[in-house]
Amino acid sequence: MFDPKKVKQDFPIFKRKFNGKELVYLDNAASSQKPQQVIDTISDFYENHYANVHRGIYTLSEEASGMYEDARKKVAEFIGAVRAKEIIFTSGATESLNMVVLSWALNNLRDGDIIMVSEVEHHSNLVPWQMIAEKTGAELCVLKCRPGKKDTLLAKVRANLNDRVKIVSVAHASNVTGEIFPVKEISKEVKKVGALLCVDGAQAVPHIKVNVQSLGCDFYAFSAHKMLGPTGVGVLWVRGELYQQMEPYKYGGGMIYEVKEKSATWADPPERFEAGTQNIAGVVGLASAIDYLGKLGLEQVREHEVKLNEYTLKTLPEIEELKIIGPKDPQRRTGLVSFAIEGVHAHDLAAILNTEGIAVRSGHHCAMPLHTKLNLPASTRASYYIYNTEEDIDKLMKGIYKAIRILK
Ligand code: PMP
Repeated sequence: MFDPKKVKQDFPIFKRKFNGKELVYLDNAASSQKPQQVIDTISDFYENHYANVHRGIYTLSEEASGMYEDARKKVAEFIGAVRAKEIIFTSGATESLNMVVLSWALNNLRDGDIIMVSEVEHHSNLVPWQMIAEKTGAELCVLKCRPGKKDTLLAKVRANLNDRVKIVSVAHASNVTGEIFPVKEISKEVKKVGALLCVDGAQAVPHIKVNVQSLGCDFYAFSAHKMLGPTGVGVLWVRGELYQQMEPYKYGGGMIYEVKEKSATWADPPERFEAGTQNIAGVVGLASAIDYLGKLGLEQVREHEVKLNEYTLKTLPEIEELKIIGPKDPQRRTGLVSFAIEGVHAHDLAAILNTEGIAVRSGHHCAMPLHTKLNLPASTRASYYIYNTEEDIDKLMKGIYKAIRILK
């Protein structure tokens, strides 16, 4: 039986008190906390196995290389990739998306082509496309979609696709509305015009079982730090055959086959795209996070988050002035709820909640175009993970009432 209170005991951070209060951590969409197991794996790696990878023929380097490559296999299995070689380690989802743009788009897009994204995208899946549109002369089509209304993104993609569209890049789940988008259906549409589909999975992989093969996408990006792993590590999954269309965008050690004075040739992928010393300990930590999540079972994680969504979507609307952003159906969201309260600024609310030991995110959550559309300077986001409980939501409610009393 999945028990969030038991899970919580695995996370040392919860031993700390804040303003004399227990920590109610509701900022998991920004980054999750780390279980002792992941912390121990990283310490053990540095204490007992550490060396640079792929370069030494001594025992330690072989051990470290083995752990690094085992992590690659584990990640591949975790997201349903066919081969471990399709996994490129990056510094995070942001770098993964930049890699798609600089390694694929820069070499394959030209004047007259169309790049399609949606207006709910995180800046990491928007700004790199803006930049590459400018550089290549391609047109950036930003799909307008009513947040929360069922399948509007799919309908918009369908309505706007034509054979000039070369790549569509969308979030698997929004970091503001929590909405889970129908990537599989979007992929079917995208394939009809022969375009590629890039998916920003930063908010999906920690919460729902992802299988890149059955989704039918071509690139899939995510970060370790939102799924119990360390910061500074991310993944770009590339459908194997697309490597032929990609050029490295970082050059140096580790990514070459042969170097002469004035020229060089490249190693095979994925090393071709992993120039320089990687975050080896971070990658090993990510493997440990996958083990931890695997033991819990992502189906259980999802079930737990849907229950928390149900409870939140039932209780928060008791506050009259509060408006929830995104779908009303708990099944259509990952475990997060963003909201705005008339007459209460999100930052003031977050500051008052902090006095109660409650950590929420306030602001535009790196999605300014969506907030502009919603006519909101900022919103407050409560985002859940495996250690959160209904009691946390009750405390959030109490905190919000306190803030309203003070601020209004
Ligand atoms: N995309 C989405 C949807 C996100 O929520 C985030 C993180 N907030 C990112 C991309 C970027 O992730 P990172 O900062 O780990 O690179």
